Amino acid sequence: MLSHFNDHSLFVRAFEKSSIGMALISYDGSFLQMNPSLCKMLGYSEGELLNLGLTSVSHPEDLEADLEICRKLVQGEIDGYHIEKRYIHKSGSLLWGLLNVTAERNEQGIEGNDLFICQIVDITEQKEKEEEFKKIEELHNLISEHSQDVILRLTPDGIISYASPAIRQQLGYDPDELIGKYAYDYWHQDDRNGGWLQQGNSDHSDSRIFIYRLRHKNGHYIWQESHSKKIRNAAGDVQHVISMGRDITERIHSEELIRRSEKLSLVGELAAGIAHEIRNPLTSLRGFMQMYVKEDIDGRKKLRNEVMLSEIDRINEIVSELLVLAKPSNEAYELRDMVQILNNVTRLFEGQANLYNVQIKLELDDNLSSIQCQRSINQVFINVLKNAIESMPKGGEVTIQAKQMNDSIYIRIKDNGYGIPQEEITKIGNPFFTTKETGTGLGLMVSMRIIQNHNGTMRIESEVGKGTMVEVVLPVVT
Ligand code: ADP
Ligand code: MG
Repeated sequence: MLSHFNDHSLFVRAFEKSSIGMALISYDGSFLQMNPSLCKMLGYSEGELLNLGLTSVSHPEDLEADLEICRKLVQGEIDGYHIEKRYIHKSGSLLWGLLNVTAERNEQGIEGNDLFICQIVDITEQKEKEEEFKKIEELHNLISEHSQDVILRLTPDGIISYASPAIRQQLGYDPDELIGKYAYDYWHQDDRNGGWLQQGNSDHSDSRIFIYRLRHKNGHYIWQESHSKKIRNAAGDVQHVISMGRDITERIHSEELIRRSEKLSLVGELAAGIAHEIRNPLTSLRGFMQMYVKEDIDGRKKLRNEVMLSEIDRINEIVSELLVLAKPSNEAYELRDMVQILNNVTRLFEGQANLYNVQIKLELDDNLSSIQCQRSINQVFINVLKNAIESMPKGGEVTIQAKQMNDSIYIRIKDNGYGIPQEEITKIGNPFFTTKETGTGLGLMVSMRIIQNHNGTMRIESEVGKGTMVEVVLPVVT
């Protein structure tokens, strides 16, 4: 097939036409022959290159290493090599070449008659891209290593392949211990997002913002807001997901507080209005009921009347609790002694405590400062103590402690009653949340509201079967 070419002319043509720069070099580094591609690559004519020699077009910084390896080749220690090196174009600009050199040894063994075949591929563009990529990578490292946000990279299957150091601060884990783990295992069970990762290829859902809870190494949950994006390759397959997450626990808590206090004031206004309206008709109803009781001389309607009276009293009780909601705003503040307040409240419950076999222990520091407060503050301790006693239907112990630290008085009321399940704790203080058959679900809401008006805080800790502790902190005005 190739009969009309002789072997020699075929190889000369391959040399001349190759898009790779090629040259034949003698043992002293001078050009013997080169192809047009090499001339074009370096910007010189053949004549110019023959004069210049190889060392003149090399970048000075790469020359030494190149000469050293050349020496080995000339002396026969090696038969070829390839390196990446820089050349200077005639215009002065720099270009990167992948140089491949092979020795063609002189078979007669005459020294100095060896030839070297050089092939140079222009890799300038590729090198520039590499440099650019390196810069981007450095920037990426800088951002992810120093960002306060947690940066995660996941495989399409949800396996963590990178975690930035911020994860230590936010979630307590070392980045290394998360690599290779399944990300969803750390999500709160209720927040798993319906398998967004596994969802198919619809582009519009490639970026998402999630608000969810992640498990801290200590076991509690941290609210996170994360921006996640699926990164695809040219074929459209998901390569990985880089997500950036921020700790928003504080924000969620304050939003919850705002929601609650808005709800409280709304309910408060409404309740107080209704309570006023109910109060008067209720008083006259109760008056008439008492008349009926008196008129029922033979006692035939005793049961019915008693039920009606006690129901009216229950309505009255609810109405009184609701009325407290309206009071704090306009009631006067006066300087009062916390020890005295707690003693008085305890005395109120002596009867009920005896009845249920509950011991009330007071551990009050002697030298507590007086505080500026409204009379309604009593209602707080009444409500809390009442709950404590009600939580121990078979008897038990309530401890009331009060001590002063810095400018605050800490009052703790502890019982060893049935406790509150974790999932109910957040509902406490919501209007009408009660687990008691005859409860109103207003006691703690009213209490929180009063404490709020006194610039104090109220906190509940509880364990089912062990008991409950309610802590009220009130500021001492100095
Ligand atoms: P009520 O006492 O009328 O139910 P509260 O607002 O005083 O309304 O209390 C709301 C709920 O909180 C109670 O029904 C109960 O489930 C729970 N709770 C409050 N204090 C305690 C406590 N010391 N021990 C156990 N549960 C409590
Ligand atoms: Mg109560």
